[in-house]
Amino acid sequence: MTELRDIKGIGPVTEKKLRAIGISKPRDLLTYYPSRYKENRLDNEQPWVLQETLMLLCEVTADPRLFFIRKNLTKMTVKTIIDGKPVDVHIFNRHFLKKMLRPKTKIVVTGSFKDNFRHFTSSDLILHKNFKAGMKPIYSVADLSEMSFHKWILRVLEDDAILPQERLPEALLVKRDLPLLQDTYHKIHAPRNKRDVAVAQKRIKYEEMLMFALRLHAQRIQTEKTEVPRKGYDIEKVRRFIATLPFELTDDQKQATNDIFRDLKKDRPMNRLLQGDVGSGKTVCAMLAAYATVTAGEQIAFMAPTEILARQHHDTFNEFLMPLGVAVRFLSASTPSEERKHITADLQSGKVDIVIGTHALLSEDVGFLHMGFAIIDEQHRFGVAQREQLREKGCHPDVLYLSATPIPRTLAIGLLGNIHVSSIMQLPKGRKPVRSFLVGYDAMDDVFSVMEKELSKNRQVFFVVPLIEESDAMNHMSIDAFEHVLKKHLPEGKSYAILHGRMPDDEKADVMARFKDNTTAVLLSTSVIEVGMDVSNATMMVIINADRFGLSQLHQMRGRVGRSGFPSKAYFVADDPEKARERLHVLIETSDGFKISEADLRMRGPGEVFGLSQAGIPRFMMASLLDDAALFKQAQSDAADVFSADERKAQVLKKQAMEHVDGFHLD
Ligand code: ADP
Ligand code: MG
Repeated sequence: MTELRDIKGIGPVTEKKLRAIGISKPRDLLTYYPSRYKENRLDNEQPWVLQETLMLLCEVTADPRLFFIRKNLTKMTVKTIIDGKPVDVHIFNRHFLKKMLRPKTKIVVTGSFKDNFRHFTSSDLILHKNFKAGMKPIYSVADLSEMSFHKWILRVLEDDAILPQERLPEALLVKRDLPLLQDTYHKIHAPRNKRDVAVAQKRIKYEEMLMFALRLHAQRIQTEKTEVPRKGYDIEKVRRFIATLPFELTDDQKQATNDIFRDLKKDRPMNRLLQGDVGSGKTVCAMLAAYATVTAGEQIAFMAPTEILARQHHDTFNEFLMPLGVAVRFLSASTPSEERKHITADLQSGKVDIVIGTHALLSEDVGFLHMGFAIIDEQHRFGVAQREQLREKGCHPDVLYLSATPIPRTLAIGLLGNIHVSSIMQLPKGRKPVRSFLVGYDAMDDVFSVMEKELSKNRQVFFVVPLIEESDAMNHMSIDAFEHVLKKHLPEGKSYAILHGRMPDDEKADVMARFKDNTTAVLLSTSVIEVGMDVSNATMMVIINADRFGLSQLHQMRGRVGRSGFPSKAYFVADDPEKARERLHVLIETSDGFKISEADLRMRGPGEVFGLSQAGIPRFMMASLLDDAALFKQAQSDAADVFSADERKAQVLKKQAMEHVDGFHLD
């Protein structure tokens, strides 16, 4: 049995369909796991609860009666007896069974008791002689028959020549109490009970995690071979700089900064993720490390996903570091070509210390004399290749990722490889939590009167809408449409500005600058303001069609306010606030970004939250970096053991992992 066609029941047409779902050899059927199971178990002994689904064995006591209710709808009532009690069973559209249901026939019905136990409505009915107790695997196989699909798998399971040989060292199977591979396939496709399924799933997940951990381990060995000069930074200068900051670092910021500096001192390249909620003050930690790098005579590349964000980082760095004689430059696609030439020349000659920019930093004309430190903001917005490209502009630079969508450690490893994680959990002192409200459009009048109050105190307000222009396809608010409404409610003497992704970059920068210095009071924008924008005088955020955005995204947008000691408010406006509450209640209940991103990840999955194509999350058939953290930990520790074991299977696994690592990107 080497080809699919060798399996009884599979012809050319079926073969084609199987190929379409990724099955090209009999063996592939084994790793096409059931998407769920249906448990066949008689509930006769269980207490009967009204409306609850039950599977009951009963005996027909009289010929069924058939009713034609209307076209295509028949009802059959069957008098039965269940454990001595007479029960009327109703079943729809199964008139063709009538002849089989003779008195004394034993049948199994699935359904529930209705109408105060007066009758049992059955959705499924089979003859008792065809009933098989146990777990029935359910496969999602589109246009193939599920029953045949299962039969083919059972045929493959019977053929010892096809079943793959055990790959994992016996010591590991014993240590982790895992079934053998062949046994696993039997248990997953033909389980006798729930336990079989659980045992098999554990082994499959474990193996997936172990393979991943082995590759990570191989990669780590590779990196640890890479020696880099320790950064000879001037700690006294850094200390003096810290003393001049207008605030004291929070304990978490201090901890994170220490982590980073310890990495800088090592003779191995840093690979660290600094995660912290919006406004937690990650930038200053990055800036301290950047300054230290400058004192060590090396250059820094700082890449951010949007022009606005990059420009803002540039302005912050410039404000703090220019007085210290550090040359900071900004580079984006909108930088005029003359200026760009100057900047790239000065980077090449080492005259510029720090360059902050967008994807433009990846262009070929951008090169460094000696770039020793790369900072990547909102890393998940960049693909694996782009992160690699920036890294390659230096010589094994230290790399620091910043992220405002905090993620569990296992997931960070999935996204970024052997990464160390520092987390800023606390916000700077004096921040007041943003009061959040989920409202319907009928509350807009109130929203506008709150706006008026804020504006009268000379504070500023954000409005976010999903679309730029009206769209037939989507029934969402657009900038065009909302502008009319806003104009009507804007108090005299107050101005507004519009910001969206399709505006020219210099215009965007201009709008931002005027909002920052409070020349404009209200900013009406799309979600381009999502990341980073820092305007501490803004105290009110209104998000229209809030139900259209992801939780993390909404949290990010809310993070644009509450950046000062003034109390701030956020309004999430939805078509149907009660329906939206199911998903958005987390936002109202907490402002803890860790909790929110966790909830978002659970609801939408990492692929959606981070953008699957960009993120480079390893794809497992069954394991999940989110749910199987404990198993991953075991796999990681076992991977280290495999690498040091002499046993034959361990050697094979190790060799495979080492061979993979060269071309190994985490995607
Ligand atoms: P994020 O973590 O979102 O990147 P930022 O680094 O932009 O946050 O910091 C948000 C604001 O908080 C900035 O205006 C910054 O100057 C300020 N800030 C940072 N750290 C502190 C601190 N320890 N105390 C007070 N304000 C701080
Ligand atoms: Mg930031």
